[in-house]
Amino acid sequence: MTTLLGTQDIARIVAAHGLPEVLRRMEAAIAADFRRWPEFDKVARLASHSADGVIELMPAADATHYAFKYVNGHPRNTAAGLPTVMAFGVLADVATGMPTLLSELTITTAIRTAATSALAARALARPGSRTMALIGNGAQSEFQALAFHHLLGITTLRLYDTDATATAKLMRHLRAVPGLRLIACAGTAEAVRGADIVTTVTADKRRAVIIEPAMIEPGMHLNAVGGDCPGKTELHPGVLQAASVFVEYEAQSRVEGEIQQMAPGFKVTELWRVLTGQAQGRRSETEVTVFDSVGFALEDFSALRLLAELAAELGLGQELPLIPALADPKDLFSQLAVSTPRLRAA
Ligand code: NAD
Repeated sequence: MTTLLGTQDIARIVAAHGLPEVLRRMEAAIAADFRRWPEFDKVARLASHSADGVIELMPAADATHYAFKYVNGHPRNTAAGLPTVMAFGVLADVATGMPTLLSELTITTAIRTAATSALAARALARPGSRTMALIGNGAQSEFQALAFHHLLGITTLRLYDTDATATAKLMRHLRAVPGLRLIACAGTAEAVRGADIVTTVTADKRRAVIIEPAMIEPGMHLNAVGGDCPGKTELHPGVLQAASVFVEYEAQSRVEGEIQQMAPGFKVTELWRVLTGQAQGRRSETEVTVFDSVGFALEDFSALRLLAELAAELGLGQELPLIPALADPKDLFSQLAVSTPRLRAA
């Protein structure tokens, strides 16, 4: 039987555990899977581009579970009343191919992206980082803000969005969070000044330059989330040139990440190598580090497995008759008669 989890089920999971705890468990689940990286079948996602956006399929599997996510990215969607990013995904049993879970992944993508950002920053940002600039205050932004506050101890957020109503929305949602100071800034340069961590999570289908070399201060960690497909970037190439750059899955990031702007030989390090101690993360207090995030299928694999576990604990989800339950597995035809009375009568 396949279990269906809708957006309300995710809201119930968050209500039962609290978002900080769900973010913590998500970070732990992703970290555990990144640490066993060689055990996974990995492939760059399959992207279908159009003038206004992209639709992507993202598969990942280990010996027991197979997962895929459907996700889009359409920066102009919000003007038409739709989210920029929408997603759903499937978890299946490798031994039989049976899809066991069909789940919403729009809210979950925001949670898993924020948890991955926090995981990377835990390994790469200066210990004791307290101030973060958050550029782009749309759908993902509260999740990023809360992940950095609860998981990494960020206490001051310096906010900027070209749309002042987006910043006002974020401030409305987070103003009651104890111990979190919110400062709306007049521009990116002002927001970035003095920040330990800079998160860019803007949406614009072009080679944008949100962060320029002149804005960079020694020791900063950049969490570049919004540049995630060909022709869509947020950092000036000079920022990358002067930093140590970390990616999820190099083959995918070379095409989709900030590093699409760099020559093929430009050195990057996959995050899993840092998490397993095979590569060094930050080398000094003054080094500038960049997590060039694009979103990798393994994060959704981890998210779907965690959702299955949390939903089972709480008894959530609906049984979905997606695959026929056959008394005789060789008799598919009789299903037509059972489920279509009019056909039987004919
Ligand atoms: P959104 O459309 O809800 O929000 C984006 C915000 O960026 C908007 O409020 C917009 O006004 C603002 N913006 C655009 N240009 C700007 C600029 N030059 N300066 C400041 N603000 C600017 O989108 P979202 O769902 O929050 O997603 C944000 C981005 O993150 C998208 O590009 C999306 O594709 C990407 N994303 C990446 C991952 C990942 O894993 N790396 C996951 C999810 C989303």
